[in-house]
Amino acid sequence: MKNVVILGSTGTIGINTLKVIDLFPDRFRVVGLTAYNNAQLLEKQIRKYSPTHVAIGLEGIEYLKKLFDKKKVNIFNVQSQDDIKEIVTLKDVDIVVVGIRGSAALYPFLSALRSGKTVAPANKEALVVAGHILMAESKKHKAPIIPIDSEQSAIFQCLNGRVDHKLKGIYLTASGGALLNVPKSKFSQLSVKQILNHPRWKMGKKITVDSATLMNKGFEVIEACWLFDLSVDQVQVVIHPEAIIHSMVEFIDGSILAQLGITDMRLPIQYALTYPERLESKLEQIDFFKLKQLNFQKPDFKKFPSLALAIDVARKSGTLPSVLNAADEEAVDAFLSERIKFSKIYPIVEKVVAKHHSINNPRINDILEADCWARQEARKVISKNVT
Ligand code: MG
Repeated sequence: MKNVVILGSTGTIGINTLKVIDLFPDRFRVVGLTAYNNAQLLEKQIRKYSPTHVAIGLEGIEYLKKLFDKKKVNIFNVQSQDDIKEIVTLKDVDIVVVGIRGSAALYPFLSALRSGKTVAPANKEALVVAGHILMAESKKHKAPIIPIDSEQSAIFQCLNGRVDHKLKGIYLTASGGALLNVPKSKFSQLSVKQILNHPRWKMGKKITVDSATLMNKGFEVIEACWLFDLSVDQVQVVIHPEAIIHSMVEFIDGSILAQLGITDMRLPIQYALTYPERLESKLEQIDFFKLKQLNFQKPDFKKFPSLALAIDVARKSGTLPSVLNAADEEAVDAFLSERIKFSKIYPIVEKVVAKHHSINNPRINDILEADCWARQEARKVISKNVT
């Protein structure tokens, strides 16, 4: 029996994690759930899974406290780092699924590793901004990181959980997002609705916009370098519109292993939860005879300059990934709330990154300061760009 905490249980990853757990009620016990503000859904989840600890925002706390006996459910404040730390470090916790977005995941991720828990991150921001720190803590406390992000999961599966120094490199596949076949001249007219219509994956809004700019793939390059101890030059991004191959690894003898599957997040989630075992899933299977062919293209860096920018940031590292992440989050928020056009996301992020004085081998404080600085800078640029 594995005891599970899900950070972000009312989001896309959280809901899918609970669906996987539903398949194996005798293998997993939900001990902790956290939500940002969806108290109604969290209430339903508490009734169904009986976690001993939950966390939500202040309004949600008031709501839940009226419904549940505090002897049965401890209700915490999701905005408090100490509260979340208490949940992820509970003695009986085995695995922490990180389904929350943004750099908010950084502290709980660190706390979980420091108390020796297995961490299954769907969140990529924490690894992007502080990969060197998280990997060092993972090693020090023998706390495994089993990625849920589908590409990283694919590589992890191909390597069977080991960092392999006979690895020549990896092929990080990208479906190409909503704009693969949309000419760049149309980018400035694209609505939020058009961008959110991703052809292959059902995901949260922020990551769907990042998939359209390919910034998401750029973040994944940074993430993969940390997770699998690779240099940027060992990572090749490949556009693969069918999104059947979720990534590949190439060994020094030229042999390549790929992981294939349908585009359903329950697959990498289940693997992370059951690793090193594999259990039957109820998911649909690939029909190769219907598929007939798989296509591959080089990424178009001119059309998607965000990818080139992220790769450059990956090379330079330091506090730049933190700046890239924070500026992107601000710019994407501005686009989603229709304050700026889609085509303005890249120039805003690029401007903030170019202005930053990076600190090498940053500590957590340096990373958080860079994050704050980048948000302020991005907001300044955004206010000048308002459409
Ligand atoms: Mg991904």
